[in-house]
Amino acid sequence: MFQRNVPPGIHTIRGIMGVCHLLVDAAGGAVFLDTGLVGEPVQMRWLLHRLGLAPRAVQAILLTHGHLDHAGNLRWLKRWTGAPVYAHPAEQAHLDGRYPYSGFARWCGRLERVGYAVLGSTATPIDRSIGDGDELPFWDGLQVVHLPGHTEGHCGFYSARHDVLFSGDLFASYFFNVHLPPPILNSRPELIPASLRRAQALNPRYIVPQHYDILDGELHRRRFDTLCRRKLFAGARG
Ligand SMILES: [Zn+2]
Ligand SMILES: [Zn+2]
Repeated sequence: MFQRNVPPGIHTIRGIMGVCHLLVDAAGGAVFLDTGLVGEPVQMRWLLHRLGLAPRAVQAILLTHGHLDHAGNLRWLKRWTGAPVYAHPAEQAHLDGRYPYSGFARWCGRLERVGYAVLGSTATPIDRSIGDGDELPFWDGLQVVHLPGHTEGHCGFYSARHDVLFSGDLFASYFFNVHLPPPILNSRPELIPASLRRAQALNPRYIVPQHYDILDGELHRRRFDTLCRRKLFAGARG
């Protein structure tokens, strides 16, 4: 896929809803960042083959959160690579299809439950719990940045070395349409403004979300700033 303004070693797997990533360091160590919804395994196999990497070269599967479009292939990917799953413990309820959605969002819970059952990923356990500030030894160092709001355990991953923030579903970035996730999908919307400020304070040169049109880390950073101006300073008008 076309990409620019991103550090080397970021590989994309584009699915029907979003993009998940494979990060490869200079020594050939690799981590998957989210696993996609359905259909990605073919691309994942091809990508590793093309890079000359064995499935065992994958050191970890990092989840930004437990929604189905990010963890749909989790069980398969874990079995194929043997890699442990890293995620915030609050996301296990989503992976188990038992997150207590309320109100209009209840249908999300039903869809999530059915989806995980259909994809055979129900109740895949998180192997390593992560939390804000944790330093992970992958891709020359990734820091966990807890960015709750979309879900309680929603996390981004920041590389100081490459000055890039992988922001998960903090926002979606499309031409003419930079937006927060749809309200019905946000479990703790009251926490979103603080998470936007947190990402702003990190001040990364590049941002890579999970739902976007083209991979351009500087473009996504600029769009993020525009969104923050709208949401944080314009108040309800945004
Ligand atoms: Zn999500
Ligand atoms: Zn998503």
